[in-house]
Amino acid sequence: MYKSREETIKELFPKFPKFRFDQIRKGLFDPAITSWKEVSTLSKDIREKLEESVPFISSELVKAFTSDEMDTHKAVLKAHDGKLYETVLMRNRRDQWTICVSSQVGCAMRCTFCATGMMGLKRSLHAEEISDQYRFWKTFLKELPDEPQRISNVVFMGMGEPFANYDNVKAAIKTWLTYTDLGSTKIMVSTVGILPQLEKVLVDPDWPPVQIALSLHSANQKKREEIVPTTTEGFIKKLIDWSHRYQTKLGNRNHRLTFEYTLISRENDTPELAIELANYVNKTAFDKVNVIPYNPVHSKSFITSDRKRIDAFKDILRDKGVNVTERKTMGDDIDAACGQLALSN
Ligand code: SAH
Repeated sequence: MYKSREETIKELFPKFPKFRFDQIRKGLFDPAITSWKEVSTLSKDIREKLEESVPFISSELVKAFTSDEMDTHKAVLKAHDGKLYETVLMRNRRDQWTICVSSQVGCAMRCTFCATGMMGLKRSLHAEEISDQYRFWKTFLKELPDEPQRISNVVFMGMGEPFANYDNVKAAIKTWLTYTDLGSTKIMVSTVGILPQLEKVLVDPDWPPVQIALSLHSANQKKREEIVPTTTEGFIKKLIDWSHRYQTKLGNRNHRLTFEYTLISRENDTPELAIELANYVNKTAFDKVNVIPYNPVHSKSFITSDRKRIDAFKDILRDKGVNVTERKTMGDDIDAACGQLALSN
């Protein structure tokens, strides 16, 4: 059975009053603090005992990679049970950092073009293993004093399907919203779109108002079933209705629904599919399509759409009034780009 950091601390100090845990949580997220020794709100005895028995960050670094352009870093982390997972740090347009976090070790969704999908699901990450990815990168940045220090955005675009690990993802987000300067509009949950979980978001009074990006990859039901094998019957149609209900209930100018669309040459980038997508988007309450040129995955035979095909696809969407953006590929030289995260253990 997994014992969380706080459960371990409760066993060590059964008489700890509530405020101690608050001091501890604040200490964990204090950017100036990188070890128990530095949590000066706690007595020396407590600090020493914590230092001995409780890891300050729940997973340890196995290996870090830095892209040639120095704008992307990837870390392989090892969990308490030896499981390896990855987390990515990317410099964003405002010269701050976006972290791309994993919600699971591996993934059960098996999207045909995704490297993580080939691993299958090893296990879901615990809430602190998710929220500690932020703390890991904060500590990492501290060692690079010439780099900007601020992590301004978090995207759930690492390994795993966040809505297949709903409670832990939610708890991690709430931790960040409480103990960091991240605002809810700066956190994006990217999902394959598990309908029962999408419905849950609408009735869960506790769901934090974060951004949702839905990985569509085709507006054609049959095609989507091919690319995203977990697509359920009637998904494309049902999503229209869901999006309007979401918009009414939770959507506002700061909380928009976005589609992600990985463009794979001749697979889902044809003019016919672009037209079908544009007409579809216009029926939903999603107000943007973010196209992601396919990042090659070793052992897969898919081909990245060339510039002409990408532009033609985007033009069709634009002509039909769809707001379209394109994701800049970062860190592909260290296999840190979207969908390139995979480990063999
Ligand atoms: N399970 C979540 C997070 C996946 S990663 C989801 O499905 O949304 C974030 C995005 O990268 C998803 O849209 C995913 O489909 C996309 N992606 C996966 N592999 C990719 C690849 N090789 N090239 C480009 N995008 C990819």
